[in-house]
Amino acid sequence: MHLITLIPGDGIGPEITKAVTDIFAAAQVPVQWEEQNAGQTTFDQSGELIPQALLTSLEKNKVALKGPITTPVGKGFRSINVTLRQKYDLYQNVRPSKTTDGIKTRYEGIDLVLFRENTEGLYAGLEVWDEHNGIGDSIARVTVNGARKICHAAFAYAAKHGRKKVTLAHKANILKVPGKIMLDAAQEAAREFPQIQYEDKIIDNMCMQLVGKPEQFDVIVTTNLFGDILSDLCAGLVGGLGVVAGANIGDDMAIFEAVHGSAPDIAGQGKANPTALLRSALMMLHHIGEHEQAVKIEKALELTLKDKAKCTGDLGGSASTSEFAQAIIDNLGK
Ligand code: NAD
Repeated sequence: MHLITLIPGDGIGPEITKAVTDIFAAAQVPVQWEEQNAGQTTFDQSGELIPQALLTSLEKNKVALKGPITTPVGKGFRSINVTLRQKYDLYQNVRPSKTTDGIKTRYEGIDLVLFRENTEGLYAGLEVWDEHNGIGDSIARVTVNGARKICHAAFAYAAKHGRKKVTLAHKANILKVPGKIMLDAAQEAAREFPQIQYEDKIIDNMCMQLVGKPEQFDVIVTTNLFGDILSDLCAGLVGGLGVVAGANIGDDMAIFEAVHGSAPDIAGQGKANPTALLRSALMMLHHIGEHEQAVKIEKALELTLKDKAKCTGDLGGSASTSEFAQAIIDNLGK
């Protein structure tokens, strides 16, 4: 039995978390959840944003499944997601985007994995607001060590999973210092993995190429902000935010979470698609070595996605979150 920390989060978080835990229970996955929360809801109830009990649970279990957490825009507390990623050096944000039979998109044959540096860049938290002079600064800190670690992780993943190519997305023509650090780190990793093809692309061209001919990409590695934006772009290519998984991985701990946010516009209405969190939970199962369980649930999910009537509204269906989860449960083992 694997003990896993479960963070339901805010907004649609509790609804999609329940769908995932129901599916895991029905599939008899050998996972025991240790529920601890963080975020706006926790703050409203207890006055704490990240309770010590959550940190203790994470440090003990080393693996967590997390729902989305609301972050106030332009004011208020610092993102809890960013705080946890930095505190535990979860430097890899890994986001696969793959076209699935049953999810209608404009594209076919997309199968790419984005490696986003997760602790540095413009999210390093180095912000200064000089109110007197009306100047706001955000410093994009990229370290040689951080760049090396994320580039190495992307190439090592490509080699381990039989991938052919790694593309570095950067803006080294304008942001010359962080850009050069990333280019040097990627070239160094490319030399270490000569069987993997390597290329680099400037981020604006990368966006155009991704929407024009996404099937040309395989593994992508980039800095924090570019990766945040590219990962939503990639989600849009394969069916939207409701269907893509994500993982925050460090050398010592991993937190699995959907790419999307807390979706306050549909929270509490039973409309949320749990696929993204479920797929994140399946990445987690692969991470802890429960490959067979992951494959079994993925098959049931893919079967369900082919039946539009059983899907949630974002996929063109009319089912509620719990009805969709029940349909996946009914398809287990088929
Ligand atoms: P969002 O991802 O919450 O929502 C964007 C759109 O996608 C909305 O229309 C929403 O209804 C839809 N959507 C998202 N997930 C869905 C799902 N599972 N099923 C169906 N539709 C879904 O983005 P936002 O509105 O920009 O952000 C809302 C809040 O979430 C903000 O406070 C933001 O900071 C936070 N956020 C958290 C995380 C995280 O915890 N990892 C990530 C992104 C945003």
